[in-house]
Amino acid sequence: MSNLDAIFAPRSVAVVGASTVPGKVGHDIFVNILRGGFTGTLYPVNPSARSVASVRAYPRISEIPDPIDLGMIILPPPLALKAVQEAVENGVKGIVIVSAGFREVGEEGRRIEDRIVAVCREAGVRMIGPNCLGVINPLQAVRLNASFSARMPAPGNISFISQSGALCTAVLDFAADREFGFSKFISIGNKADVDELDLLCYLHRDTDTEVIMLYLEELRRGPEFISTVKEITSGDFRPKPVLVIKSGRTSAGAQAAASHTGALAGTEGVYDAIFKQSGIIRVDTIDELFDFASAFAYKNESELGKLRRKVPSGNKVAIVTNAGGPGIVATDMTVSSGLELARFSPETVEVLASHLPQTANLHNPVDVIGDAASDRYENALAAVIRDQNVDGALVILTPQSMTNVLETAKAIVRIARRSPKPILCCFMGIIDVSAGVKYLQEHGVPVYRFPENAAKAFGALYKYSRWLNRQHLAQFKLSHDRERASRLIEGYLKEGRSYLGELEGLELLSCYGFKTLATELAAGPDQAVELAEKIGYPVVMKIVSPQIVHKSDAGGVRVGLQNADQVRQAFQQITAAARTFDPKAEIRGVLVQQMAPEGVELIMGMNRYPVFGPLLMFGIGGVLVEVFQDVVFRLAPIGRNEARRMIRSIKGYRLLEEFRGRPRTDLTALEKLTVSLSDMVSDHPEIAELDINPLLVHQEGRGATVADCRIILKPADKDR
Ligand code: ADP
Ligand code: MG
Repeated sequence: MSNLDAIFAPRSVAVVGASTVPGKVGHDIFVNILRGGFTGTLYPVNPSARSVASVRAYPRISEIPDPIDLGMIILPPPLALKAVQEAVENGVKGIVIVSAGFREVGEEGRRIEDRIVAVCREAGVRMIGPNCLGVINPLQAVRLNASFSARMPAPGNISFISQSGALCTAVLDFAADREFGFSKFISIGNKADVDELDLLCYLHRDTDTEVIMLYLEELRRGPEFISTVKEITSGDFRPKPVLVIKSGRTSAGAQAAASHTGALAGTEGVYDAIFKQSGIIRVDTIDELFDFASAFAYKNESELGKLRRKVPSGNKVAIVTNAGGPGIVATDMTVSSGLELARFSPETVEVLASHLPQTANLHNPVDVIGDAASDRYENALAAVIRDQNVDGALVILTPQSMTNVLETAKAIVRIARRSPKPILCCFMGIIDVSAGVKYLQEHGVPVYRFPENAAKAFGALYKYSRWLNRQHLAQFKLSHDRERASRLIEGYLKEGRSYLGELEGLELLSCYGFKTLATELAAGPDQAVELAEKIGYPVVMKIVSPQIVHKSDAGGVRVGLQNADQVRQAFQQITAAARTFDPKAEIRGVLVQQMAPEGVELIMGMNRYPVFGPLLMFGIGGVLVEVFQDVVFRLAPIGRNEARRMIRSIKGYRLLEEFRGRPRTDLTALEKLTVSLSDMVSDHPEIAELDINPLLVHQEGRGATVADCRIILKPADKDR
């Protein structure tokens, strides 16, 4: 028995702090376990009562004559600490502390919480909580409702981990309405000892769990979370989908930051990266959590027992409907969920024609017409699901006078049983369709009230299938000049310089394979001309001033200068504009830079976060980067495959492929540079923040060029 088994499938439970007063948590939890039909033995512990809810009470744990697996503790902090010590001394194997008043209220509470964790760790006992709703295992063999929710959910194959106790009760209520069954239901509270990552690992191995739902407020482990959860969602050993709902989606990160990356990233960028890198599917609402979970789950009934989880092998969907309007809604949603309408083979169309009336639409979406009875649905669905061009189906039914809801449901179940392709249903309505809905649910066929929900859930299945079947290309062999970069950084820090502009930044970047442009500083117009002739026309000129961060904003950038006259003039204009922009700006001179060849302007950046480390950014760059905000994030370190996915996931990815007569850009070079950036910030913790904007990517085979960068250095300390 693992220690967490002692919590989720105990043979005996002691409720320490069981109360005789109804309405008190200590009373209700005891009664909930009792009434829930717990299959093990239950012991109330209360020093001043003879019995609780007619069950003989014990004054202390040590006086219970039998061994105890799980200690449920409902006592204020100082007493809880004592109870934990006593429980551990008496061989209790797992602990759940429901009571509040710990870390969340202040220093004193935090100290007691830390002591409790120390006692548990010392004894090798795992603890859930404090400040939580408890745990529930509705499965027949256990039937443990060790929570203060009076509602025991139905047994099922979905497990739910929640950081919010209040949300737990709401989810249980929802679940009851949707006939949703659970395997484990866990409120983690302050997660002082057991956290979501421990539970994800436990549920990964748990044969009764097929889908894991997670409500999260914050994570305290980053890189470790990614590597572990990646295995859970897509490893060789029984991969399981993990769905997350995370509070606080809107980014509060847009403070005045010195870099674009700093302004665009924020903690939302961090979470987005963590979920993407670990293969977690993020949902926006509780409704969606349920919608997706039922698509991912399958029943373990004996007749369906051999079925594997149905994930589509492609994104081509067939729609079968008896009404035009919902069919159109489904079609639209299909497209916006990343799916496509399948094109049927001529044979399929022929079969459809032989079964459907003349007015029926034989192409996708198939309209079986409002007067369709169950046979038309059965024939049409059987035909399309067999088609090689079809990866799955959405069946839409609206109750009309000829509709036989239950028989149609039965026909769908018959086909679903034979086909490995997912079939999702939308039976529109509540009362008239209820018999069919119930039948589908009982047989593990996902069913929704609206076509958009069904289409979105199908989209989630496809997303997961893409994650499972993602490419694994061999890593690049990159050679970096790490020592030179270290020497440069050390030098700057010794001089007390923390802000590096282009001149120094480009040099540092070149150690990691970034192609840079000849760039030199001119103090006056004559020197500028001299440098321009050396570099070769056309040139670019840029203001250098510590007070001017975004040079174009200050009229401080001129491109495409062709001759000495233009250079001379540009020098005057740039310095004059800078003085108008900020009369106090200290002007160090003007950079003369080689003009980059044509390319698409991108941004690459990095910002460091406590606990999580360096967050990499990639997206569409240029001076309008904040306007488009087409950027994506990943936590370093990343390799080639993650870099590839990162690059492909921006909205503007099409600009990088062959586009409107423009050749395809050098995507391999971009992948390499993204990995190089990851290597660079991992090698040098002194790099606190970094922006390359623009990075101009040229056509295939010609690489990419850094035209502008800024780097912020901080002496490395142990906290980062
Ligand atoms: P800042 O970001 O401080 O405003 P940049 O150096 O990024 O200044 O220049 C602004 C824009 O000028 C770039 O987005 C790019 O379009 C163009 N640019 C800058 N340097 C070059 C160069 N060397 N070659 C071609 N275009 C350049
Ligand atoms: Mg720039």
